[in-house]
Amino acid sequence: MSQRRGHFTTTRAIDRVSRRAMNDAEKRDDDDVNDRANAGKDGEGEGEEDAGEARDAVANDDGIFESGHEITAKSSWDGVKRRAIVIEHRAKTDGDGVEYYVHYSELNKRLDEWIDEGDAEAFAELDGVVLGGGESGKDLASSANGSANALEMKTLTRNSKRRFNEIHNVDAPVEDLPPIDQMFEREHEEKTKVKNVHSIELGRHEMDTWYYSPYPDDFGKCSKLYVCRFCLKYMRKQKTCVRHRETCSFKNPPGKRIYRHEQGPGEPILGFWEIDGKHFKTYCQNLCLLAKLFLDHKTLYFDVEPFLFYILTESYDGDKTHDIVGYFSKEKSSYDDYNLACILTLPAYQRKGYGSFLISMSYELSRREGILGTPERPLSDLGQVSYRSYWSRVVLDALHKNRGNLSVKDLSQMLMFREDDIVSALQSLNLIKYWKGQHIIAASPKIVEEHLKSFQNNSITARSRLEFNPELLTWQPPQPPAVKK
Ligand code: ZN
Repeated sequence: MSQRRGHFTTTRAIDRVSRRAMNDAEKRDDDDVNDRANAGKDGEGEGEEDAGEARDAVANDDGIFESGHEITAKSSWDGVKRRAIVIEHRAKTDGDGVEYYVHYSELNKRLDEWIDEGDAEAFAELDGVVLGGGESGKDLASSANGSANALEMKTLTRNSKRRFNEIHNVDAPVEDLPPIDQMFEREHEEKTKVKNVHSIELGRHEMDTWYYSPYPDDFGKCSKLYVCRFCLKYMRKQKTCVRHRETCSFKNPPGKRIYRHEQGPGEPILGFWEIDGKHFKTYCQNLCLLAKLFLDHKTLYFDVEPFLFYILTESYDGDKTHDIVGYFSKEKSSYDDYNLACILTLPAYQRKGYGSFLISMSYELSRREGILGTPERPLSDLGQVSYRSYWSRVVLDALHKNRGNLSVKDLSQMLMFREDDIVSALQSLNLIKYWKGQHIIAASPKIVEEHLKSFQNNSITARSRLEFNPELLTWQPPQPPAVKK
């Protein structure tokens, strides 16, 4: 399958369940708003292009702003006026007038949206309004490329600044990629610059989407889709969905349940279901289309046969029904020993520790196969953050238990992580030195303990006490452990 940068991603901290639903909460939690607004850099490389090409904010003869026009746009989620670029306009489906698809100059692409013409006006510097500084396009672009501009940083609290940096420094800007990748990247951006489906209703959740997904025919033109919570069939009308539920025979993902995890009272029963893309093609295709709404670079939609899918579910009714909360996919045979291709926790279920739960599961499968697995590269921005946090936590734990007396190789054998993944985790914690051609772990028990403590204070997983339990996994590899190449 074709892999490009950012193909693989996981959603971590930036959950936007529904802008409408979250609106009040966001207003109360300024830190969170900043995190949401600034997290993630993909798409912001475009900021340079957009800003560079931005025309004067003068509407055409019909009073319509055209593509590339710089305007002041009022965002739907907080009503704040921001500097934005018009990407496209169209006639309103109901009634007269037009609406604009806009990209907010200093914000992540996933916040691009359609706005009413009443919320768009000629660009003007306004006092006390978030406009991303009003500097030249170059400055905006450089902020997107890692060195956040002063104005932006001033509005960030310490905590969100850390996350902002973590996320912004991950991927190289498009300009730094090899020419062929640049071409793919631009092509991808062109094809997916307008988000089609804006929200989905899945069971009792309505979720705002983040990215374009190639839903076929008229489905892709709907601003809202209704998705069956069990079979993931997508529909345009709520009443169709209600009718479908009466006849749908699914109560859980298809395939075989290989993990059942009862938690305390009031907590859902968690499950993992293994699905062969070859046997449940429609379900897996529906899943990929749904996932694409939240993954920027996923390129797999229809060719699902070479993959296995592992679906994580919650059940609140004692095993009668099981709702999907996230999944990961994995190539059936990977020459590079990749143990994970795509990973997603649906926005409505984020910040519960499910991301690291999914990663733990992927490593347990590899462990039983006798393979030192690793996620498919390149990692996306959020993917990188999730994995680094996961590796760090597990490595710190191991060092703590062994009073630091372990080499990188020991850790690799013990945890079934690749040595370079361990090295990158330790580097991010500044606990490793390179000396005479070797990586030496430089971590006293006291330092490890301090790191672990600060990790536990910040980590969602540690707080939620949600821990994958390998003993509950009833799965054996199809063949005896592979002999290493
Ligand atoms: Zn269904």
